[in-house]
Amino acid sequence: MRILIVEDEKRLAGTLAELLHRRGYTVDVSYDGVSGLDNARSGIYDLVLLDAMLPGLDGFTLLQQLRAGGDTVPVLMLTARSDLSDRVRGLDCGADYYLTKPFETEELLACIRSLLRRGDGQPRQEDAVTCGDLRLEPGTFLLRCGQREVRLSRREYDLMELLMKNGSQIVSKEQLILKVWGYDSAAEDNNVEVYISFLRRKLEHLHSAVKIRTHRLVGYCLEVGA
Ligand code: CA
Repeated sequence: MRILIVEDEKRLAGTLAELLHRRGYTVDVSYDGVSGLDNARSGIYDLVLLDAMLPGLDGFTLLQQLRAGGDTVPVLMLTARSDLSDRVRGLDCGADYYLTKPFETEELLACIRSLLRRGDGQPRQEDAVTCGDLRLEPGTFLLRCGQREVRLSRREYDLMELLMKNGSQIVSKEQLILKVWGYDSAAEDNNVEVYISFLRRKLEHLHSAVKIRTHRLVGYCLEVGA
């Protein structure tokens, strides 16, 4: 497994590289956004650890450009600030997960294991999933409604797939966390909420008749409109 660290703080980058190397990962480091984007695009990495504040090109822009090119490599974003706007921005740009500095080593390793388990970097071979006027395509991560389409991040895709496969049946938050983030993940309820809000925005953008309905304290289901 090969991991790219994009981090300009040399000491932190070194500590992370050493830690991951000891766990058996092959690690490369980029110290600025421009070379980070070049390396992330190479297609040889199973995961990218991405700092938000970087010289040259900030982490958010780097991620947007990476995703705009159709790259679905799992990205774990590291943010110095814990305010919601930064986290939302990171996830909105296509991050699969974020950690706020300083973070616990064990939490970082658990996130990495979870993301690596999910992502093989390869387009999926399964058939498209449909529900109401929506069609979700595994190979391209595209969610389509009529002539409109949006690209989903890997997490958004996993969440949407689970909801679409269950249709009007309620999926609990616990089920979503377990299936989308994995057993030993540090995902929390509000992480799910953030992603659900992204998906709602995308459904609006698609002008879909399908809505994500919240059942307080229970979970979510899809409501297929007329
Ligand atoms: Ca930094």
